Amino acid sequence: MRVDWKRVSVYLLFALAVSCLVLGYVYTISQQRTGNVTYQKIQGDKSEHLTTFEVMIEPGVDAGKVYRALMLCPNAYGYVIIPYDVSRVEPSQWYAPAPFPKEGEDWLIVVADGDVYPADVGGWTVQYTGRIVVLDLDRYPDVILASIITHECTHQFESGRLDYYTTNIAAYSLWIHDEWIGVYPKMGENGWKSLYNLYILDEYLNS
Ligand SMILES: [Zn+2]
Repeated sequence: MRVDWKRVSVYLLFALAVSCLVLGYVYTISQQRTGNVTYQKIQGDKSEHLTTFEVMIEPGVDAGKVYRALMLCPNAYGYVIIPYDVSRVEPSQWYAPAPFPKEGEDWLIVVADGDVYPADVGGWTVQYTGRIVVLDLDRYPDVILASIITHECTHQFESGRLDYYTTNIAAYSLWIHDEWIGVYPKMGENGWKSLYNLYILDEYLNS
């Protein structure tokens, strides 16, 4: 496993400077598996998704908000909310004691209580395994929580640009223009960072 702490730090500083919301705090713990994504389909489910995640909501987290946030995520990702099962998680090696899906518990999102676990990121994942934790904070609006979930899910389908929008601003601006959205992204605002997730996803869908 490899964590590029220097880039993460730069990213965190930038996010701190531009926003007190935590959307920008997310990062990826990348590892050796390459971009060969295993698409997970649920047996008998005819709905169209790139993959489907199981979602476990930790007791104490606002389940209604998580439900609304999932409804606001792109259809590329399907979600099945299941009962919280402590046997499928372990203390994260990066932000213990925050829970994280155990090795082999792929395509599993844990939504944990960010007001309980100290971490300076909104969520993290081991790329291409679908193992994700998202820390919900009481102060997050629905759309911010949806953006963090979408961000971590999109990491499963990209190869390294999702966390580095500041170095990809020209390409993003072109996409903004081509998609009739506007002229120039104001990256200090959460909405533009949120839309960047869709830009990376759209590029994947067009590749
Ligand atoms: Zn990230």
